[in-house]
Amino acid sequence: MKKPTMAIAGLTACSGCQLTLLNCEAELPEVAGCFDLIFFPMGISGGDECASVDVAIVEGAVSTPDDLETLLHLRSRSRFLVAFGTCALWGGVAAMKNHESRTELTKIVYHDVAGEVLTFNPEPFHFFVTVDFAIPGCPPEKDELLALLSSLLRGSFPVFPIYPVCTECRNRENRCLLVEDNELCLGPLIQAGCGARCPAAGIVCEGCRGPVAEANVASEMELLMQKGFPREEIISRMRRFCPEWNYEQRH
Ligand code: SF4
Ligand code: SF4
Repeated sequence: MKKPTMAIAGLTACSGCQLTLLNCEAELPEVAGCFDLIFFPMGISGGDECASVDVAIVEGAVSTPDDLETLLHLRSRSRFLVAFGTCALWGGVAAMKNHESRTELTKIVYHDVAGEVLTFNPEPFHFFVTVDFAIPGCPPEKDELLALLSSLLRGSFPVFPIYPVCTECRNRENRCLLVEDNELCLGPLIQAGCGARCPAAGIVCEGCRGPVAEANVASEMELLMQKGFPREEIISRMRRFCPEWNYEQRH
């Protein structure tokens, strides 16, 4: 049987999502045997960036004209486009200052040597193209990537949790950092799938997997403000991985 062809690429990103695949050390030989990796500059020299592929798995936000050109190119040459990681899905850390002027930010960083600003606000893929599937996470969970790859071989997509991190946290019987310790935990708003890794280690959920569907944003805001957190601090925390929330959203 002909192997499905695959491209793995990155836009404005830290390459951490692509590294998730390379970190699948035990499974890599099987992955390489099941897919024809046509283009994967981080892992394989050469490669054909112009070839059409069955699936393109792409990390990063779109923040430069080159990013946009690459994304359009990959979209037009792939049967399935996968937004890989929180930057691709929501904008991620690159977008945390999207509410501020890029010209001003450039001046703050580069002072008098700041030149013309050629980049634009980092945005997720779905602002520009149709996305067929997404894996959240900063970086994504290895198991979710492998679940996608094995589902693709069967001609389907995997089903990921549609509940918040709190559900996994309660299942693990962790101490609740929000209710019991009055800490600014975003677990109620964030897509599960990480096994509530941070609260299990006594660290609040910072929201690296992005919003869960039907997040009760307004209730979390009210609860945190009742606990004494200023609205600006809550919003600043929420923007760390996803720049745009509907702060009035209730479900
Ligand atoms: S610690 Fe955070 S993630 Fe865990 S149950 Fe409490 S609010 Fe939810
Ligand atoms: S607990 Fe929150 S911050 Fe930690 S890995 Fe999970 S989603 Fe990310």
